Amino acid sequence: MTTTQVAVIGGGPGGYAAAFLAADLGMQVTLIDEAADPGGVCLYRGCMPSKALLHVAKVLTEAREAAAWGVDFGAPALDLDRLREWKDGVVDRLTGGLGQLSNRRGVTFLRGRAALGGPTTVRVTRPDQGLIDLQFEHAILATGSRPALPASLSLGGDRVWDSTRALELPSVPTSLLVVGGGYIGLELGSVYAALGSAVTVVEMTSELLPGADRDLTSVVARRLEDVCQEVLLETTVGSLVEEGDGVRVTLQGAGNVELDRHFDRVLVAVGRVPNSEIEGLDTTSVQRCARGFVTVDGQRRTDEPTIFAVGDLVGEPMLAHKASHEARIAVEAIAGHKGVFEPTAIPAVVFTDPEVAWCGLTETQAKANGQAVQVSRFPWAASGRAVTLDRPSGVTKLVIDPATEQILGVGIAGVGAGELIAEGVIAIEMGATVADLRLCIHPHPTLSETLMESAEVFFGQSTHVYRPKRVD
Ligand code: FAD
Ligand code: NAD
Repeated sequence: MTTTQVAVIGGGPGGYAAAFLAADLGMQVTLIDEAADPGGVCLYRGCMPSKALLHVAKVLTEAREAAAWGVDFGAPALDLDRLREWKDGVVDRLTGGLGQLSNRRGVTFLRGRAALGGPTTVRVTRPDQGLIDLQFEHAILATGSRPALPASLSLGGDRVWDSTRALELPSVPTSLLVVGGGYIGLELGSVYAALGSAVTVVEMTSELLPGADRDLTSVVARRLEDVCQEVLLETTVGSLVEEGDGVRVTLQGAGNVELDRHFDRVLVAVGRVPNSEIEGLDTTSVQRCARGFVTVDGQRRTDEPTIFAVGDLVGEPMLAHKASHEARIAVEAIAGHKGVFEPTAIPAVVFTDPEVAWCGLTETQAKANGQAVQVSRFPWAASGRAVTLDRPSGVTKLVIDPATEQILGVGIAGVGAGELIAEGVIAIEMGATVADLRLCIHPHPTLSETLMESAEVFFGQSTHVYRPKRVD
């Protein structure tokens, strides 16, 4: 039996961040994953390949739009093999880099499938290299999640894709039905629309990105209506039947309206489920909730004192940066520190065109909680930078505590919103008031000024929007 101080199971952003920090703090660490290098879903089949393809989608869109600025590149010629090769190269470069970082820190990386053998042992089954039994002082479970594929949406074969298959770029279907108007449906739907597919999005609720503020999502919804064939809300899939090389689909809309359509391919993006059926978990006291998430305390310790869990495995939001932050907390707890996981602002970014991002309290949440807030909005049509980019559709908003004038939430819809939202995170986490934000000099001309000006709007003193403060 080999021994290790910390065994980390799963090499995604939760697992590798945990392994690297534990090694940095001087612990002896073993990181276990089935892939050749660390990276997990984020690097192999999530954040990174999708963002590489979204970058290409942006280039294609801008090349088309350039005609309006007097520059015509002609019709784009797509070489799908080279695009796939480039995207795979991005993934290889990033996962290879993580492999090197792991080695340089002295982390033992074991390629294989882990099964727990009790509160202090794990067995790793390695491809062609037999079994290794490890005894650990602490383990961190970071086995992540996988696409949900309800039986009613499965068909076998290659006509119905999940996100992993869609990211492999098997083809550019003439017509693509995207089931689910959430993060993946909108991001990958946008990619395929830019590559040339006629994309139809169906979303079962009455809004895209359910739960996000409507004044933000409406910016992307308007744009999607231009780039997609159709966006159907309050619609679900009734049945899927193979037809020719594609799929015949019945769609059930609001008011029992039934639509009958043919699509070449269907992409199902209706959420993800945690990989919590870890073999041997029942030999420990680790507990799971009804939805399958492993239950943890504020330090990410499970009901088994030697075992911690982080990332998608322990619940929403299923985001890479949330996984990595939890990983730091878990490792610090193992090292005897007192920190807990209690962020005020976990940023959410949907990398559509334009991007939508928010952090802290949303207006929707405030309404649901019955919490009084003041909302201050700056329209991007008044931003010089947005106009020079020919992207004046956008909005930056602050959700403010009326009593203290503290910034509780920030929302941004517009190009580059994913980068801009980090300023909101800092403002909220540092307890900034709307006056603090107004007084910070922002560089001109940039989109970041929309944050400062949304603070000025609150006082009725925005330079580029004439909206005097109401005196009641
Ligand atoms: P994962 O990244 O899921 O890693 C878990 C790892 O554990 C996997 O490698 C798995 O193979 C391994 N594993 C599981 N069981 C075992 C076992 N028994 N033994 C050994 N290894 C095992 N998030 C963002 O923040 N930004 C984005 O832009 C973004 N884009 C996304 C795009 C797509 C298409 C998808 C699908 C997801 C995206 N996400 C994004 C979500 C993000 O990928 C996840 O939140 C993140 O990867 C979760 O990290 P994790 O460490 O919990 O687990
Ligand atoms: P999601 O929860 O974001 O969206 C799923 C959508 O499908 C919801 O709007 C839901 O109402 C809808 N839906 C569910 N069942 C349906 C049905 N039968 N018919 C029609 N619509 C249906 O899930 P996702 O898009 O699969 O993404 C999973 C998770 O991965 C996300 O929640 C997010 O945590 C993560 N992710 C993050 C990013 C990012 O950070 N940019 C990108 C991709 C994925």
